[in-house]
Amino acid sequence: MFESLSEKLSGIFEGLTRRGALSADDVNASMREVRRALLEADVSLEVVRTFVEKVRERAVGADVVKSVTPGQMVIKIVNDVLIDTLGDTADPISLDAAPPVAIMMVGLQGAGKTTTTAKIAKRLKDRHKSKVLMASLDVKRPAAQEQLAILGRQVGVDTLPIVAGQSPVQIARRAEEAARLQGYDVVMFDTAGRTHIDEPLMAEMAEIKTAARPHEILLVADALTGQDAVNLAKSFNERVGITGIVLTRIDGDGRGGAALSMRSVTGKPIKLIGTGEKMDALEDFHPQRIANRILG
Ligand code: GDP
Repeated sequence: MFESLSEKLSGIFEGLTRRGALSADDVNASMREVRRALLEADVSLEVVRTFVEKVRERAVGADVVKSVTPGQMVIKIVNDVLIDTLGDTADPISLDAAPPVAIMMVGLQGAGKTTTTAKIAKRLKDRHKSKVLMASLDVKRPAAQEQLAILGRQVGVDTLPIVAGQSPVQIARRAEEAARLQGYDVVMFDTAGRTHIDEPLMAEMAEIKTAARPHEILLVADALTGQDAVNLAKSFNERVGITGIVLTRIDGDGRGGAALSMRSVTGKPIKLIGTGEKMDALEDFHPQRIANRILG
């Protein structure tokens, strides 16, 4: 992940560190290259502009520390600005509410919503010893509820028994009640997706939100769709309100544009990243670690 961006940046910085003393021209030239590398990585234009401006400001005002070369200092500044852009600190899923804590999963079809729901349930069970109930509210795709039930069995997490003919809101109410009466710590709602955002989808999400009263609303977005994922998160946040983002298919994302732009553009944190199809291929999003990966 981030391979191509990482490669380009290390090429740019290699040139800088070899040079010893740096002139303003050197810094400007390398910032032009950084700008190009970020744009090629599909980072959103406004994020690139702010990024380069911040690095330039800090580089100009920085005291030269004797133990490092000016080139190394620029790399340190880029690292700090990367962390700023990515969101500074890790922001994990919050379970800080009266049980059963409701988590609603939203997103487009194929983004990895159902898979991620099961991955998160497994992680809550394994790490927090939480008793989790999952419910699929997808009544459009015939096999959706069954798909979640199969994943539930695979990871050892209960799913709400399937009752044919219920609406998403009815299923949400039934799940909430079952979770409350049967002493579950967490109840997860896997909602239906569509191929694109439309009014009926947003209306359904708003209705489910009212019924489920979620503590977390997590948007699942495919990193490979780049800026589309960022725009999607922005729209979902404006229309439904989200508390965080799970970026999937990071394992195939050599560019990293969505990961880098998400926080600045949407104002919401990336909480988790999907790194593969397996049920434990889910990682916390640590800005520091991601910055290290990008800078090699
Ligand atoms: P949904 O329609 O949003 O519920 O999507 P699914 O959960 O059915 O996932 C669609 C496909 O993406 C499945 O084949 C998943 O195994 C795959 N998938 C989900 N997350 C990831 C991920 O992080 N990495 C990779 N490589 N594949 C993923």
